[in-house]
Amino acid sequence: MSQPMTPAAEAARMIDALGPEALAKAQAYTTGNHWLLFAAVGVSILIAWIMVRFRMLDRVAERLQGRSWALGTFLVGVAFFLISAVLELPFTIYTDWQRQHAYDLSTQPLGDFLGQLALSEVLSGLLGGLFLLGVYSLIRKTGPRWWLWGGGFSALVTVLMLLSGPSLIMPMFNKYEPVPPGEVRTALEKIADDVGIPHDRIFMYDGSRQSERFTANVAGIGPTARIAIADVALKEASLAEVVAVTGHEAGHYKLGHVWRSAIILPLLAMLFFFLLNRLFAPTARLLGSDARLDEPRGLPVFAVVGSVLGLAITPVTNSLTRIGEVEADVYSLQTVNEPDALASALVKTAEYRYPRPSALQEMLFYTHPSVEKRVLRAMEWKAAHPKAEAPKTP
Ligand SMILES: [Zn+2]
Repeated sequence: MSQPMTPAAEAARMIDALGPEALAKAQAYTTGNHWLLFAAVGVSILIAWIMVRFRMLDRVAERLQGRSWALGTFLVGVAFFLISAVLELPFTIYTDWQRQHAYDLSTQPLGDFLGQLALSEVLSGLLGGLFLLGVYSLIRKTGPRWWLWGGGFSALVTVLMLLSGPSLIMPMFNKYEPVPPGEVRTALEKIADDVGIPHDRIFMYDGSRQSERFTANVAGIGPTARIAIADVALKEASLAEVVAVTGHEAGHYKLGHVWRSAIILPLLAMLFFFLLNRLFAPTARLLGSDARLDEPRGLPVFAVVGSVLGLAITPVTNSLTRIGEVEADVYSLQTVNEPDALASALVKTAEYRYPRPSALQEMLFYTHPSVEKRVLRAMEWKAAHPKAEAPKTP
């Protein structure tokens, strides 16, 4: 019997086992994603400039003159989302379809992709139009402190979205079905009992329709809370891996991470509105727009400020989500105690999250801690908590 490996050596061995080719591919994919964050800001500035230059929203607004203010505002908002979606289409096809195929992360046919994209753009156009109608009402009615009201309004909208997402919106894109009876279901029911989610809210969904990613998620709050596992995870995972991953997702729920985002998102929205108040006029000048802040035809200016600030805030939001991910891993280890399975399940996510980023790359761009760090923590846990029933080495 050789010396037991240190946790660090064990974690390194698991990552190395992916092989240099797979690691290089994962690195190329992940680094590409980070560059695309910057490219996306460039694209949204370009689109805003095109919309201003050709007075697209101004024309829509002119046609709607004579209608009620609310209807006009709503429709200009919807037009803004739909025109943006069309102008952005080549970029979206490249990032969300072509690239996913190039890296073997999706097998979705282009037609199905475009159909689902159209559905999601129309849906976000309508919901976004309603949201903007609320925002413009506040700008008009609540005076210079509208950004405070805007934050409160965003909180309301966030809670509504969290409540309605799992039951109304997500089923439009995937089929959610009960996990069939068997050892997987029994194990999942035990975890659901631990966190107080009823058994009829444990689902599997056809995640493979869009993506080959090994994934699971928890969504919703209160009565709409549910755990869902992608069919990819069920197909490619051992029972212990499913348990370890579901333990992680259950941790997000039990530790109130959804509520955390219900507080953080509106605060970020408030900060954005506060800054928009100051940055709107100079940005409009740069873009060549003569719209005022309270005019919906100024939405391209809105969008430019939003995308630049959104990128600037990414390291902060990423750091917050990384904290939640560490907590959920610890929760899984504490409750289901499957460190080896958690580690092997994590290694399967390395194909779309390069497992060995530099510290700076991780800090700026990673929504989850690096897989190697997470595997290391699982191995450290294993070393510190040997299973009672583990057989003694002869
Ligand atoms: Zn997570």
